[in-house]
Amino acid sequence: MSVHVVEHPLVHDALVTLRDAETSPELFRRMAVRISLLLAAEATRDLPASPVTVRTPLGAAEGRRVSADVVVVPVLRAGLGMLDAILALVPGARVGHIGLQRDESTAIASQYYSKLPKGLGNSVVLMIDPMLATGGSAVAALDQLSQAGARDIRMICIVAAPEGVALVQQHHPGVRIYVPAIDRHLNEQKYIVPGLGDFGDRLYGTL
Ligand code: URA
Repeated sequence: MSVHVVEHPLVHDALVTLRDAETSPELFRRMAVRISLLLAAEATRDLPASPVTVRTPLGAAEGRRVSADVVVVPVLRAGLGMLDAILALVPGARVGHIGLQRDESTAIASQYYSKLPKGLGNSVVLMIDPMLATGGSAVAALDQLSQAGARDIRMICIVAAPEGVALVQQHHPGVRIYVPAIDRHLNEQKYIVPGLGDFGDRLYGTL
């Protein structure tokens, strides 16, 4: 199953604050961090780890350390609001950036920036893009990652539309999507309904 609908109550508590039109940019940013941490924990549940032994003050203890090379790729600009939270969980992660801009009249995404770490073939790639709407920019970003050799790609979103989920599944069936809410539909401007509005504008106060 490639779509993981995250049901954790703390995720949904943060999501309802993000959705609330009265939420200030400051609170919006805090909730974006909180929900991203929780979603990333879910998306990394099966990261490869190696056994290690450490010495506690009382003796030897067996444990596990994450052994995967994790690469986080925010889709600019909204994905940047999720990045620091994920780096707090996986401080050793490498970071790539993909810049896609949506034409407000056609909702078609065009790429203006891309910088990816090398050697993605053995990495766990966490692509972060909070709003999976038409799926057009997600597919464009996933195409880039696949062309760069990525094989284990997990997409972390905060709200999705059924159309976006379907497009990603059609073009990239191997990609796992972690999302707490799949909303009703897209409106004529290709915004998710009820969604939460423009994530980047609410995050950065550029409404
Ligand atoms: N991007 C957003 O920020 N919000 C939407 O509803 C759709 C795309």
